[in-house]
Amino acid sequence: MKHILLIILCLPLLSFGMTVSYELKMPKPQNHYYEVQLNISGNEDAQVEVKMPVWTPGSYLVREFSKNVNLVKAFSKDGKSISVTKKSKNAWIINAGKEKDIQVKYEVYAFEVSVRTPFLDLSHGFVSGSGVFMYIEKAKNQVGNVTVIPHESFKRISTSLPVDQGYNGLGQRFQFENYDQLVDCPMEIGNQEIFEFTAAGVNHTVAMYGESNFNVEQLKRDMAKIVEAETAVIGKNPNKMYTFIVHNVVDGQGGLEHMNSTVLSVNRWTYAGKQYVDFLNLVAHEYFHLWNVKRIRPVELGPFNYDTENYTSLLWVMEGFTSYYDELILRRTGFYTEEEFLAKLQSSINYVEGTPGSRVQPVAHASFDAWVKAYRPNENSSNTTMTYYSRGSVLASVIDAMIITETDGKKCLDHFLQQLYVTYYEGLKRGFSEAEFKMELAKFVGKNMDEFFAKYVDGTEIIPYKEFYAPVGLNVQDITTNNPSFGASVREEGGKVMVKSVRFGSSAEEAGISVGDEIIGCNGYRVDQSMFEGMMSGMSSFESCEMLVARDEKLFSVQATIKPYKKPQFLLTKSPTNEKRLHYWLR
Ligand SMILES: [Zn+2]
Repeated sequence: MKHILLIILCLPLLSFGMTVSYELKMPKPQNHYYEVQLNISGNEDAQVEVKMPVWTPGSYLVREFSKNVNLVKAFSKDGKSISVTKKSKNAWIINAGKEKDIQVKYEVYAFEVSVRTPFLDLSHGFVSGSGVFMYIEKAKNQVGNVTVIPHESFKRISTSLPVDQGYNGLGQRFQFENYDQLVDCPMEIGNQEIFEFTAAGVNHTVAMYGESNFNVEQLKRDMAKIVEAETAVIGKNPNKMYTFIVHNVVDGQGGLEHMNSTVLSVNRWTYAGKQYVDFLNLVAHEYFHLWNVKRIRPVELGPFNYDTENYTSLLWVMEGFTSYYDELILRRTGFYTEEEFLAKLQSSINYVEGTPGSRVQPVAHASFDAWVKAYRPNENSSNTTMTYYSRGSVLASVIDAMIITETDGKKCLDHFLQQLYVTYYEGLKRGFSEAEFKMELAKFVGKNMDEFFAKYVDGTEIIPYKEFYAPVGLNVQDITTNNPSFGASVREEGGKVMVKSVRFGSSAEEAGISVGDEIIGCNGYRVDQSMFEGMMSGMSSFESCEMLVARDEKLFSVQATIKPYKKPQFLLTKSPTNEKRLHYWLR
């Protein structure tokens, strides 16, 4: 009975309604244009709305991908032109009339180098789907295919989309289950070097673009260690195949996560010395996301609305917990010693608590406002914002410590994530709300979390580290400084000492210094950046200095009185008590 019911339910999906397929060409990579054809079949509407996403999942900023789209044209099956009108910034209406089969053609300019935007030049093509493929709302859940016809000089396509083995036309054809999957599988098209390794029962393909100093055997071994250690956190790896697309470039920018692939942008010479650990750290971060954010996720992050911002107050869990694990996994795989891991944790804590914005923006708000704040920083950001990556990772460590304490070293944060994975991803097949996350955590830890959330997640209080870390074998020393501080950062530009930021309530602010001012002299001496910084660091509290400043080419003098600045700082050291729990934590 079950089978029959399933077939009846599936039939309409498979047999009727609109279906879509795409063709992607790049005949002249030097002009940076992809030529895209969207083939619509089975249309029954007089007007069809096609849309370009405004953002790409994982990168919480409206990027307006339609800005790169040239004139959109449409044709009937027999080549007759169909009129197209613009409906909004990212939507077009195809006036289909009675046409059932329609071809929509457009070009996309792709020349922004990043892991979240498409790119094309003579050296390679990178397809970030949300910046290339338009969609039709009612066909978003339909299966389809995309045929890629690479430029003749490009020999390979690396993507985690399944290949259509039956296709024998030009280029290569890939299948997708729905639009979400199409845009969640970036493609690297070119002459990239490819190697493979198997870890945790999953076949991993690594596609390396760009000249670099990597060692294939070393990477296979070390990346496999990370995959195995991260799979052990959740206890299962949901993929059969996984693709790493690595862009080795002059100025690496980080990575972007997907369900069964990732794109990493790194400095091309990152594979030697201390920088190599940074690469592994990025691998650990993006790979961990295949669970945390792609599967263990807020309910708001999937299925995605590509038309607008998708707000969630849980990015501190998604990015913060992932940032915590990208360090912890390096400890578990032996790339960090216990001391190195603790030094990283201490530095995160001191960054978080020492940033003025920590006292202004709760981390839940930082998550929600990522779209307008985190991704749009300005000269005042450190006064008003706190990154959900750093405070989220510190909170992850505190919650981990709390679980280890409550279970006397039998369980840790791994087990809580396992529970979320099983309950929500596998069981309910959806994400969780903020209230559900809090409720699940309270249940798991075995205590009410209202106060914790009110103070440290929805509030901006300094976290009482001693209270949380002492039971897991760490000494926490409050070494809050109260040093004299001018409170403005400067950078030399074209021989001028320019003010780049002014701390809220600082001596610089009191003196009337503003971002954009040029500091010419101090106490009768002309200064360069190092001289100015040297003079400021040598001042005592309540000492005054006279500064000659230029603003809009007008010269004036200000009197600055140096004030002490209280900066919360902490020192972490291992304690002889609760050593067993500490070793369980840092195992
Ligand atoms: Zn991340």
